[in-house]
Amino acid sequence: MKAVRIHQFGGPQVLRYEDVPDAKPRKDQVLVRVKACAMNHLDIWVRKGLPGVSLPHILGSDVSGEIVEVGEYVTGFTPEQRVLLAPMHFCNHCAKCVAGLQNQCPEFTVLGFGVDGGNCELIAAPAVNVIPIPDPLDFNQAASVPLVFLTAWHMLVGLGGIRPGQTVLVLGASSGVGIAAIQIAKLFQARVITTAGDETKLEKARALGADHGINHYQQKISDEVKKFTNKEGVDIVIEHVGVATWEQSLKCLKTAGTLVTCGATTGPQAAIDLRFLYSRQLRLLGSYMGTMGELYEVLGHVFAGRLKPVVDRTFSLQDVQSAHEYLEKSRMFGKVILNP
Ligand SMILES: [Zn+2]
Repeated sequence: MKAVRIHQFGGPQVLRYEDVPDAKPRKDQVLVRVKACAMNHLDIWVRKGLPGVSLPHILGSDVSGEIVEVGEYVTGFTPEQRVLLAPMHFCNHCAKCVAGLQNQCPEFTVLGFGVDGGNCELIAAPAVNVIPIPDPLDFNQAASVPLVFLTAWHMLVGLGGIRPGQTVLVLGASSGVGIAAIQIAKLFQARVITTAGDETKLEKARALGADHGINHYQQKISDEVKKFTNKEGVDIVIEHVGVATWEQSLKCLKTAGTLVTCGATTGPQAAIDLRFLYSRQLRLLGSYMGTMGELYEVLGHVFAGRLKPVVDRTFSLQDVQSAHEYLEKSRMFGKVILNP
């Protein structure tokens, strides 16, 4: 089969579209022909080099496709069934896994990070990771959902404990997590403030339900948030930008507000005044993907049409280098998809 592999870390030129041995399912696995694989910023981090990645390595976390073969021990699936894959690897038998806390499993890693991913034609996955998709959802839409919608759901619902009517600040409206978080917050009838780098992106964010948009190049985020909330601040900040917005994000919280972070796209080293942390009684929470239960919960809303996947554009898998260059320029609104 064809796959995109990296044999060394570096720029987009290290991505090689090449022949590799066909994936073969174990008896407890399902073999899936990949129809679409959505990109995430994680693909760029892995390509540039992260500890825990063994080379050569196949990138790609978000997979949709058709079942080709069902392992002997697997029931409930048939060839040609349309499915997506839960974008995570876990042992499925430790105390955390059986308690439904897969993202706390000692073996937990993201598909395409600690284990080979879906930038290929065939992928073998444990049956527990395979989830059927309904007909109205095409493969590109299906692939655009799992990682970012699960991440945003875990941040807002699982960790943030969002309640109806709260006010939420979502950083980075055009990112996958941003697009998912805006919609999930609106599902809870929250007031949503979001940020983006240009008016076109803010307009699209408003179309998804955002109540107030801030141009982070022209306006100061905390000033705008204070204006919009009568100086009170927000209940929850959804942060994934990192050092560039950290200080602003903290200033936007109301007393006893919650900041949840799942990323550091602009850099990981951020400072905090501890007096501010305790006197304002803030809660700072780190988030890493989510659980299988949460994935089923958020997919239920996607399959029912209450949450909408947003696809920006597609590339052929062969054209993976251009796709990485495009993602790094951050011009997109929504997900970038690779089609084998
Ligand atoms: Zn486990």
